[in-house]
Amino acid sequence: MSKKIIIAIDGFSSCGKSTIAKDLARKIGYRYVDTGAMYRAVTLFFLHNQIDFHHLDLVSDSLKDITINFRIDEASQSQITMMNGEDVEDVIRVNPRVASAVSDVSSISEVRRFLVKQQQAMGIEKGIVMDGRDIGTVVFPEAELKLFITAEPNIRAQRRLNELKDKGQNTTFEEVLANLTKRDYIDSNREDSPLRKADDAIEIDNSFIDKEEQLNLIIRLLNEKMGTAV
Ligand code: C5P
Repeated sequence: MSKKIIIAIDGFSSCGKSTIAKDLARKIGYRYVDTGAMYRAVTLFFLHNQIDFHHLDLVSDSLKDITINFRIDEASQSQITMMNGEDVEDVIRVNPRVASAVSDVSSISEVRRFLVKQQQAMGIEKGIVMDGRDIGTVVFPEAELKLFITAEPNIRAQRRLNELKDKGQNTTFEEVLANLTKRDYIDSNREDSPLRKADDAIEIDNSFIDKEEQLNLIIRLLNEKMGTAV
């Protein structure tokens, strides 16, 4: 595939967007960016530094002290989220305080402007798969391929619970489901860049298909779009 494009993947919490985005990027040799990790990292910064994010002046003041980037772990070839030079990959995913505050932090326009600018810069050369909530609507409305991933809430909660258990976290199905439901509600109802399917996005419900079937489906869609075989 010679011409490089932008692939935008949006959808609800824990419907496997990141896994599919990562697998797809690896398969076609594109860069992968998980924008949820960036919102989680900002949230962690506020929590660690006890910044009351309800005060906009404090938020604006502290954003300039946050640098987020990604490094590739050579051994596992996985992407590690770095905040101010520190590896925060695990803590942003397992810390329950991050999970419960991240959607409130993501509703703040200053935070969104700060991160969207960086995300757009990452896509300048195209050849990127980016996943999040507003990628096809706000970050890259011109993306050549837009996917909107969904799955049934109980299935999403069970998948997330398994992930957390694998990482040694002690939580329950009910707690996980409550967090997902709350985040989806806040993400879909916020004023700035609410989660919604872009008009030209293709919806995929992955409740009852496995990762491989889903990847094959997306590769087919990509080939149709590009008129080529990957
Ligand atoms: O994708 P993940 O579940 O890690 O995202 C965590 C949170 O970050 C979401 O619930 C949402 O509030 C926020 N987010 C966002 N816009 C994005 C990506 C994530 O608001 N593009």
